[in-house]
Amino acid sequence: AKQNGRNNYQFYLAEMNADAALRLQTEHQLHLALERGEFELHYQPKLRLAAGAQMGKISGFEALLRWRHPERGLVAPFEFISILEETGLILPVGEWVIAEVCRQIGVWSAQYGSVPPVAINLSARQLGHAGLPQAVRAIVDAAGVDPGLLEFELTESMLMEDPEAAVRILGDLKSQGMRLSVDDFGTGYSSLAYLKRFPLDALKIDRTFVRDLPGDSDDAAITKAVISLAHSLNLKVVAEGVETVAHVDALRAYGCDEIQGYYIGKPSPAAECSALLQPESLA
Ligand code: C2E
Ligand code: CA
Ligand code: CA
Ligand code: CA
Repeated sequence: AKQNGRNNYQFYLAEMNADAALRLQTEHQLHLALERGEFELHYQPKLRLAAGAQMGKISGFEALLRWRHPERGLVAPFEFISILEETGLILPVGEWVIAEVCRQIGVWSAQYGSVPPVAINLSARQLGHAGLPQAVRAIVDAAGVDPGLLEFELTESMLMEDPEAAVRILGDLKSQGMRLSVDDFGTGYSSLAYLKRFPLDALKIDRTFVRDLPGDSDDAAITKAVISLAHSLNLKVVAEGVETVAHVDALRAYGCDEIQGYYIGKPSPAAECSALLQPESLA
């Protein structure tokens, strides 16, 4: 039977397609990536759009994970985030992301005096982990960073997976002083009744609704409705994927508070953000 099992395994390896082989190799390399220091964060600015003294100023950044692979070069999240999630590696990597953002805030504070809030993407696995608030607290305390400079982005589907647990965890993070926003808003199925139970600060309108503005009348109607809903719940609205001046003009006309996208700035290494961090650039 043992001999047989071995044959089956060899047969399996022989039949394994190239995709599965690459996936297995990637999984192995991801196990080593953290200790080898191959992860890095790029930062994308958010711009204040609403009229007033802060219009046109930088209101924050979003930290986006990259993997500096020795042979493949810079690898984008869609190639490895799901593997980190499935293997559970997202827990240590996610803690590294939070610690790294705290470290960067410290560096920027020393360089520029004041720093805008930096948003961190959380994964379902992290939110499903009851120890998240304590882990966050320990990292933020150790770094000595103002918790008000941290924001967490979560998707609707993450919140709806176990709403009661999410209410508890978000309540804890909120009481530590962090900001909370719903990412990719409009792509999931969230109950509006539940939405108001979470201690949220902002909704981020998914870029699929922004892409065809202002010409697509359905997308325009959805975007306006989301902005109106958010404002009636006292939430700020950030539009994602803003790529053209036509997007900017439409979103300004609809009363959107902040915008993020290639038109404002692409995600870049921390060292390339200095122009945006000058005191006169900040909201
Ligand atoms: P997301 O949170 O929705 O991030 C926005 C994505 O849109 C980013 O892709 C960003 O580079 C891209 N983007 C920004 N502006 C524009 C634009 O004007 N046009 C277009 N077409 N795209 C734009 P990225 O960096 O590849 O990240 C993809 C996803 O990976 C993120 O989507 C997020 O869900 C996930 N992710 C990234 N970093 C982390 C992380 O540290 N932890 C976790 N759990 N997930 C992360
Ligand atoms: Ca995000
Ligand atoms: Ca998003
Ligand atoms: Ca997304």
